[in-house]
Amino acid sequence: MATISLLPQVQAFLARQHGHYIDGAAVAGAGQRIVVVNPATGTPIASIADATDADVDAAVASSLKAFHGDWARTPPAERGNVLLRLADLLLKHREELAQIETSQSGKTIQISRAFEVDQAVGFLRYYAGAATRINGETISPSLPSFNGERYSAFTRREPVGIVVGIVPWNFSILIAAWKFGSALATGCTSIIKPSQFTPLTLLRIAELATEAGVPPGVLNVVSGGGNAGRQLIAHDGTAKVSFTGSVPTGIAVGRSALEAKLTRATLELGGKNSVGFLKDVDADKAVAGILEAGFIHQGQVCAAGERFFLHRSRIDETLEKLSKALADLRIGDPLDEDTQFGPLSNKAHFDKINQFFAQARSEGNTIVYGGQALERPGYFVTPTAIRVNNAQARLLNEETFGPIGTFLAYDDEEELLSLFNDTPYGLTASLWTNDLAKALNFVPRIEAGTVWVNMHTLLDPAVPFGGVKESGIGREFGSAFIEDYTELKSIIIRH
Ligand code: NAD
Repeated sequence: MATISLLPQVQAFLARQHGHYIDGAAVAGAGQRIVVVNPATGTPIASIADATDADVDAAVASSLKAFHGDWARTPPAERGNVLLRLADLLLKHREELAQIETSQSGKTIQISRAFEVDQAVGFLRYYAGAATRINGETISPSLPSFNGERYSAFTRREPVGIVVGIVPWNFSILIAAWKFGSALATGCTSIIKPSQFTPLTLLRIAELATEAGVPPGVLNVVSGGGNAGRQLIAHDGTAKVSFTGSVPTGIAVGRSALEAKLTRATLELGGKNSVGFLKDVDADKAVAGILEAGFIHQGQVCAAGERFFLHRSRIDETLEKLSKALADLRIGDPLDEDTQFGPLSNKAHFDKINQFFAQARSEGNTIVYGGQALERPGYFVTPTAIRVNNAQARLLNEETFGPIGTFLAYDDEEELLSLFNDTPYGLTASLWTNDLAKALNFVPRIEAGTVWVNMHTLLDPAVPFGGVKESGIGREFGSAFIEDYTELKSIIIRH
C-alpha cells in the first residue's frame, strides 16, 4: 500500500467556492471567507463563507417550509427509504468522501473510510428502520362516568420541528449523520452547522441527500463559526438544538437555548474518560487496550480514554511495553494507507497539545514516551504516555482531547473505583478484567453514560450514547433518540 492520489472529483470539489447548502442547492454566501487547512501540510485547501444573518434566515425559512410542507406528514416508511437511499449513495461515494475528510481533518484514510463513511452508513440504516417504530401508547383513563360515558386515551409522538445540529471537528460525517438521521427519521427537518475547521464533507453529503430524494429544506447546511451556531439557536423558527462539542461551549449553548424560548437542548460534551485494568490483566493485553482506548484518530475521540489506572504490580512492565508499541506506530501522511497515526486536526489544537506537554514537564510528571511536536510540516506530535504520582495531577483531570494517556498506579479495587468516579465528567469508562463477576459488580458503581468491559471506543447504533455529570444531557441513537426528537401528545376521547 502507498500514498493515494486525490480522485479528480475530490480535486474539483475542493476547488469550488464553498458556502452553504439551503433549500436543495449550494449557496455561495456573502459572508467573510474562512480558510480550510489540510493539517497534514498546514496549507489551505478550500474556503467557506461564514454565515450572515440573511443566510441563517434563509436556512430557517426553507427548513420551516419543508417541515410544514410535506416532510412531517411523509409516511414513516418513505422517510426511512430516503435515508436508505442516502446511505447507499454514501457507500457509492465512499472513497470521495473519505478523501475529502482526510484532507480537511488529518484522519488517516483507513479511519475516514471505516469510521466515518461506513459507520455513518450503518447509523443511517438504523435510523431508517427506526422511522417506522415511533409509537405512542394506549391508556385507559379512570375519569368518573355520570351518564355511562366512557373514555379512551392514547399518545402520539410528534416531531419537534427544526433541529439545529452543531457538530465538532473530530468526526464531521458520523456526528452530523447522528443528528440529521435522528431528525429525518422522526419527521423533523434539520439544519447542520459543521465545525469551521471541517465543513466540507457535509456540503457534499447535502448534495447527495438531494440526489437521494431528501426534499429541499429538509436538510440544510449553514457554514461558519460559533456566531452562526448562536444565531441558529436564538432564531424564533428553530425548536431544538443537538450540540456536540466541548463542555464550556455546551454550557453556553444550553443557556442560550433555554433563554431562546425554551428551545430543547441535547448536549453531548467532552470528558476525561477513565480506563481501569484489574490486576489479572497482563501487560500485553493492557497495552492493546490502551492503544484502542486512547490513540485512535490521535486521541481526538470524545469517547477516548485519557485517565489510565494500572495496578501497582503491573504498571512498570505495562508502560515499558506501551512505550515500544507507541514507538512502533507508523506516523505519517494520512493519505498513506499504511499510516496509523496522522496529524492533529488543526493549528489551535496543536498549540493546545503542546501546552499540555510543557505543563507535564513543568509539573514534574514522568514523560514515559513522546511529549513532543514533530519537525515536519503540518500539525504532528508524538503519541504520548505520561505517568503521574497523585490523583490531583492536572493532566489526570483536564481533557486534552489528544494523544496523551496519563497513567496512575493504584493499590486496591475500592481505590480504583474512587479514581474512576473522581472526575466531574462521565461520558465513557472502560474496565478490563478476566473476572466477569467483578466486572458486573463494578459496572453499576461507575459513573459514566457508557461503560465498556474489555473494550473501548466502539459505538453501535442500537446502543444509546451520551454523558452523565458534566459530560452532557440526553442520549443519541439507540431507541432513546426518539424521545429527544419528538413531543409526546396526549389525546383523550369521551365516547
Ligand atoms: P467546540 O465546543 O469548540 O465547538 C463545537 C461546535 O460548536 C463547532 O461547530 C463550533 O463552531 C460551535 N460553536 C462554538 N461556539 C458556539 C456557540 N457559542 N454557540 C453555538 N455553537 C458554537 O468543540 P470542538 O473543539 O469542535 O470539538 C472538541 C470537543 O468536542 C471536545 O471537548 C470533545 O470532547 C467534544 N466532543 C464530544 C462528543 C460527544 O459525543 N460527547 C463527540 C465529539 C467531540
